[in-house]
Amino acid sequence: MMSKPDLIVIGGGLAGSEAAWQAAQRGLRVQLFEMRPTVSTGAHRTSDLAELVCSNSLGSNLPDRASGILKNELRRLGSLLMECAETAVLPAGAALAVDREIFSRLVTERLSVHPCIEIVREEVTDIPVGSTIIASGPLTSKRLSQTIVALTGEEHLHFYDAIAPIVSANSINMEIAYRASRYGSREVGVGDYINCPFTEDEYDVFVEALLSAERIKLLSFEAEIELGVKAGEHKFFEACLPVEIIAQRGRQALTFGPMRPAGLTNPRTGRWPYALVQLRQDNLAGSLYNLVGFQTNLTYAEQKRVFHMIPGLEQAEFIRYGQMHRNTFIAAPKTLLPTLQFRTRTDLFFAGQITGVEGYMGNIATGLLAGMNAARFLEGQQPLTLPKTTMLGALCHYITHADLMDFQPMKANFGVLPPLDINRRMDKSERSCLFAERAQASLESFLVEMSAL
Ligand SMILES: Cc1cc2nc3c(=O)[nH]c(=O)nc-3n(C[C@H](O)[C@H](O)[C@H](O)COP(=O)(O)OP(=O)(O)OC[C@H]3O[C@@H](n4cnc5c(N)ncnc54)[C@H](O)[C@@H]3O)c2cc1C
Repeated sequence: MMSKPDLIVIGGGLAGSEAAWQAAQRGLRVQLFEMRPTVSTGAHRTSDLAELVCSNSLGSNLPDRASGILKNELRRLGSLLMECAETAVLPAGAALAVDREIFSRLVTERLSVHPCIEIVREEVTDIPVGSTIIASGPLTSKRLSQTIVALTGEEHLHFYDAIAPIVSANSINMEIAYRASRYGSREVGVGDYINCPFTEDEYDVFVEALLSAERIKLLSFEAEIELGVKAGEHKFFEACLPVEIIAQRGRQALTFGPMRPAGLTNPRTGRWPYALVQLRQDNLAGSLYNLVGFQTNLTYAEQKRVFHMIPGLEQAEFIRYGQMHRNTFIAAPKTLLPTLQFRTRTDLFFAGQITGVEGYMGNIATGLLAGMNAARFLEGQQPLTLPKTTMLGALCHYITHADLMDFQPMKANFGVLPPLDINRRMDKSERSCLFAERAQASLESFLVEMSAL
């Protein structure tokens, strides 16, 4: 075993592998702990590092898509996993899909032969003393989770996602939907929530569609979700059931739950509607809204079909679909800095899904930043906070500044970026190109500034 490594990385998944590589490339002696194959997560199938647990697609490769912007940033910053993905690439149109076996094997080989990296196949149960990156993922082992609870406090470690879908604000039809807060001002167009009103007939058709829609089959390690287990501070699954489960309880059940219309007068009729779906602002820029209480286990295709039946959301652009699955993540808005350092112990970094970033690319990207920053920290340099106009900077900003009450994992999307400073109407593709150009330019000038230091 390496005596006195400079840095310990816990978890040889997407984030941990990238983090270990980045730190080792900067001369640090890194010990990378991976518990597989001795201890299984229930989702991984192999003992390879950087195993892709589900889809083999790393998302869009188009330079003007959110995921494409992140990929270009990773290329520019010298990501090992991007390089391996591009070697293991498969034909998949505009997406970057990979041969999962070749991809993980390449990552494993590159890390195994690196002179500064030692891979240790052991479960870590305590957080080590000294510089450490925790990248143990959404399925962090039970014993390590308990140690993280001791560090963060029980209320700051979540074990399940109950994610409600998110739509982009400019795709909501405000000719049908209306602004109002429950029992709030009677003034038309005033209120924090956007409300999508249903007539009784519309409601009946919607509930019927909800009940008959296809659901995602729960995996064995997710079975607890149906038991009403504790899911974070003040959250029990019994208290945030999927909408389709509430709908099963009776025809009107939803009108007493997430679709309750009381106190939300529709200015067009002067009355409360029969039922409604409320949308709550999801980001500071006001460009994203989530469907309040609409956590769900329907397949994405069925969510697209059924939720487009909501009056006012017929043409809505879904930025994220709802989900319920096991997912260990810390309350980053309370515990992390945008450099991915733990607030009260700055030699400790978090990376990957455990930070509250979602999706393969985001997890690789936070691994990259944590590895770079751990090296800078150990060299006595200031860890980097990337510009918020880059996709990676925006994600790190989002997870560390989001509203703690509703904090749920977030993947790369345009809604986390600051709005463009342009006051004229633009179509979606022009807007996306401008976001991409701005992200690239700000990363370039940031790197120039850094090299001048
Ligand atoms: C079932 C499932 C399916 C998913 N599907 C997708 C998808 O299709 N597309 C997508 O973009 N995202 C998906 N995600 C979300 C996420 O992108 C992936 O989970 C991703 O692999 C997370 O990267 P990570 O590096 O944070 O964690 P992981 O890649 O899971 O890596 C964490 C590693 O830490 C190890 N570990 C855990 N505890 C310990 C310990 N105590 N000691 C040592 N090692 C430990 C684990 O064995 C694992 O190898 C999915 C998540 C889950 C749970």
